[in-house]
Amino acid sequence: MTALGNPAGQQTVRRHNLSLITTSLAAAPGSRAQLAQRTGLTKATVSSLVDHLISRDVLVEGPPATAGIGRPARPVTLNPEGPMALGVEVNVDYLTVCVLDLTGQLRCYRHSVAENRARSAAEVIEQTAELVGEVLRELGRPLLGAALALPGVVGADGTLSRAPNLPGLTGGQPGRQLAAALGLPPLLVDNEANLGALACLRAEPAVGPDFVYVSGEIGVGAGLVVAGELFRGVNGFAGELGHVVVAQDGPDCGCGGRGCVEQYAGQEVLLRTAGQPGLEQLEAAVAAGDPAALDAVARAGSALGVGLASLLNVMDLPTVVLGGVYARLFEAITPSLTAQLDRRALAPRGAGRLSRSPLGIDAAARGAAGAVLDRALRDPAGIPVLAGV
Ligand SMILES: [Zn+2]
Repeated sequence: MTALGNPAGQQTVRRHNLSLITTSLAAAPGSRAQLAQRTGLTKATVSSLVDHLISRDVLVEGPPATAGIGRPARPVTLNPEGPMALGVEVNVDYLTVCVLDLTGQLRCYRHSVAENRARSAAEVIEQTAELVGEVLRELGRPLLGAALALPGVVGADGTLSRAPNLPGLTGGQPGRQLAAALGLPPLLVDNEANLGALACLRAEPAVGPDFVYVSGEIGVGAGLVVAGELFRGVNGFAGELGHVVVAQDGPDCGCGGRGCVEQYAGQEVLLRTAGQPGLEQLEAAVAAGDPAALDAVARAGSALGVGLASLLNVMDLPTVVLGGVYARLFEAITPSLTAQLDRRALAPRGAGRLSRSPLGIDAAARGAAGAVLDRALRDPAGIPVLAGV
């Protein structure tokens, strides 16, 4: 609450100080005295901020630790039962919803098959809102916010400006529509490969701060992470690996071009070439040594390798993390992919350049929830339950 005549700067300072507390506690729990030491704030300021965040369920204070000399310290931590972060992914053939608590633990996960390609925006939003509604009822907790992952190019205002595999949603603002259907504040919206890359950054610190995350679904996308930050390009078009050309006169692509990576390495092409009806069957055929399946995967790996080599020659990133279908087929696809990288990528080879994403099909939804969580920890005053600090 702002008293009349309070200088505006005071609110800004308090907002900044709240973020010092939450980001410090995201790194490690600590007592009020330790927080004062870590942040450089006075003990009185820390106590006032901690009390405020406890009153909003963002923090909890544990019982006094008995060991040691002097007054026993009470550890302060982020509250795993406090408000939570919602992540949603709408993809071409499925929907995923996941919820992370303030400590980053997965608290709820739903995956649902959905043939979205031929659907109108209203139909897609209706089924998504139904699934999210179920999760929210089960959760019964307030939200830190929500984010939506989409398989296409997302503009800064949340418009899905290009999504050849989701024509019904293209040109619209699915994040706004979903927010309206659920009665939530506007959702953060981003490309699914970008959010998958963020999830990877959070889940797998060993990958390092510079990598390309390849998301292989029906479309093929890439999330570029440079110095620990996503590189989106000026208009959000960066990372469109699926539409890097590998054969100038190749088959027509939904993007309007020809011979794109997606036409050789996309999930549907892969299944068709292998003569398999679904991913499980393809995996089984690969495991059984079926020649047609192995050949289809090798061809996909080769085309992906050619496209990735071009991307690496432009971006100079040291690591490629394979996600989605490519993570599932990792052993089978790696030889042909690596052969093309060896032949075409100019940067010297480093050990462990190609790695398998530890995340499954929920990577983008987890990344979406993670983005909400990161935003809340960086600016807890912006959390809806804390509005008006
Ligand atoms: Zn294309």
